[in-house]
Amino acid sequence: MLTAALRPAFAQKIRKMAVPKQEIEALRREIARHDRLYYADGTPEISDFDYDQLFKRLRDLESAHPELITPDSVTQRIGDVLTEGFASVKHPFPMLSLQNSYDLDDISEFHHRVVNGLEGDSPEYSCELKFDGVSLLLTYEAGFLIRAATRGDGEKGDNITANIRTLKGIPLRLSADQDEASPPKTLFVRGEVYMRTDDFLAFNDEQVAEGKKPLANPRNSVAGSLKLLDPSLVSRRPLRVVCYGYDSPDKPMPSHVDGLAFLKSLGLPVSSETRVAKTIEEVIDFWQKWEAQRDTLPFEIDGVVVKVNSLAQQRKLGITSRAPRWAIACKFSARQATTLLNGVSFQVGRTGVLTPVAELEPVFLGGITVKRATLHNFDEIRRLDLHYGDIVTLERGGDVIPKVTGAVVEKRKRNAKAITEPNSCPVCGSALERVHGEVALRCTNPQDPEAVKRQIEHFASRGALDIAGLGSETIDSLVDLGLVKEPIDLFFLTPKQLLSVPGFAQKSAEKLIVAVEEAKSASLDRLIFGLGIRFVGESTARTLATQFGDLELLAKAQIESLENLPDVGPRVAQAITEYFSTKQWRSLLAKLQRADFQLKDTNAVERGTKLEGMAVVVTGSLEMYSREEIERTILSQGGKPSGSVSKKTSFVVAGEKAGSKLEKAASLGVPVLTEEQFNQLLRGEIKLDS
Ligand SMILES: [Zn+2]
Repeated sequence: MLTAALRPAFAQKIRKMAVPKQEIEALRREIARHDRLYYADGTPEISDFDYDQLFKRLRDLESAHPELITPDSVTQRIGDVLTEGFASVKHPFPMLSLQNSYDLDDISEFHHRVVNGLEGDSPEYSCELKFDGVSLLLTYEAGFLIRAATRGDGEKGDNITANIRTLKGIPLRLSADQDEASPPKTLFVRGEVYMRTDDFLAFNDEQVAEGKKPLANPRNSVAGSLKLLDPSLVSRRPLRVVCYGYDSPDKPMPSHVDGLAFLKSLGLPVSSETRVAKTIEEVIDFWQKWEAQRDTLPFEIDGVVVKVNSLAQQRKLGITSRAPRWAIACKFSARQATTLLNGVSFQVGRTGVLTPVAELEPVFLGGITVKRATLHNFDEIRRLDLHYGDIVTLERGGDVIPKVTGAVVEKRKRNAKAITEPNSCPVCGSALERVHGEVALRCTNPQDPEAVKRQIEHFASRGALDIAGLGSETIDSLVDLGLVKEPIDLFFLTPKQLLSVPGFAQKSAEKLIVAVEEAKSASLDRLIFGLGIRFVGESTARTLATQFGDLELLAKAQIESLENLPDVGPRVAQAITEYFSTKQWRSLLAKLQRADFQLKDTNAVERGTKLEGMAVVVTGSLEMYSREEIERTILSQGGKPSGSVSKKTSFVVAGEKAGSKLEKAASLGVPVLTEEQFNQLLRGEIKLDS
């Protein structure tokens, strides 16, 4: 935390700079410094609030002086949606994976090979934690982040620069410590994107609240996050990076740990647990210590990585076709336990889907006490052949959430009964139905109290109406006390009613009422997302908001016009029209009107029919529009943006450096328009020959 005295001093210092350019630059440096203190050094100096104030001041100044915005500004982390997916990039050198070892024999064999390769010299080893995440390669040119790529097949990976730019722990521009040399001209950094365990659990809670399947481990959520095409969604995921490899043709380093120290001095996050071992015994100690202590870390590791420290020795040892001879990954074994299965309970999701949960005799497994474990669905229970009173085996590999891996059949009592599907909803007693084509069972009661609680959580979640101060305990009480029967009822709560809810006092009640009031001016896409229509995620909600601009118009939309939208297929279109034909929707609409929402228009584009039924391909880099803007414009005029040129393409809008799509259009005789011609078409000044 920053002392109160320091911040106003900085504020004063920058306020004195009458020239906005200077203040902007000072703010950028200061914000980058705080990002570095927080993410790389782990020693933040200021509160989140003070940080937000600095950020807001910078954003205000930049919007008053857009000519001063530069791509490396900390406000420019979030770019446009990647409509064409990720480009493939060839790595400057192969990104090798490491040979794995699982026991002491493997490690001493590795050591013998190294000593042999070095003709009898015994090397120093760098020992580091093996973070369980997704590996990537960052490229900096003259100190600026120019590329981030996934490992892919080791030769080529996906260009995920737009997504990695949103991570505050990654400097867009490197700044050297005062007493260090400046960043090298070209710098390659290998690293791992990971999620802390606590961040992952919170993320999973949100995921469940939104009716999505919880993910098994942080690595899966990292991988899923990096595949998102919308950087603004990525920016909301709690992703972090740890850097573990340095390579620069301009500035070679004598050893691996020297490279890491240099990365740290440039503001890149590196692990503080890396150690240099003089002997193989020290390496083994490091491995065994962390196998025993892995659960004390706030993130998952699945082993330790051991590298010959000297780069000269690394070169001497060389690489095989697949892995370097100078490094090894020493893995940990999976954590296992057995315990008694007391029974099976059920979670009812937002859409009424039942998830069976194993209720276990508490058992300590890998740093956490496990009392419950999801069984996913009844197919899984049948596959595991679970019976009441079974002794079951549990495993926690890289997964934070333990898995039931089977039953110890020898210990089963002779008359034990198999676990079977319930005949009615275990929560409200209503009839169950099987969703067509799915293994899931669903409660048919739209007012099932558990389902309603999940709907409210979703409605108030960050991607939806973002109502602060509405925790799951409060939601439980509101539903249990009958104060809220469906999410929209939140808008009719009175302070007096809230005072009857356990844990509420005058002040907290007023605060929640204010938060609820503020939610009425959210943007339309957030409200649509909050409705919790099946299969409608944040990105689909945005498409719908853009296309229809109004909730009632969307409610009246024909299935055909929905199907043609990007991101919306027949299944999604079906779910949308089904939702808007229910009784609940009509009651919701009446309440929405009464609550007097003042939704912000997410997209102030004029609507029309100039491009009705046309498939439009955009290629090259445009000057007047961002990709998102032109697609929004196409959509708002009844057209359909599409990714590839075919005979069905109505026309192509081509900017600078348009490549193969232009050739394809020419060969198929598809008209090609410049941006200006596209605008003329919208204004009705030109027509397309058909
Ligand atoms: Zn029910």
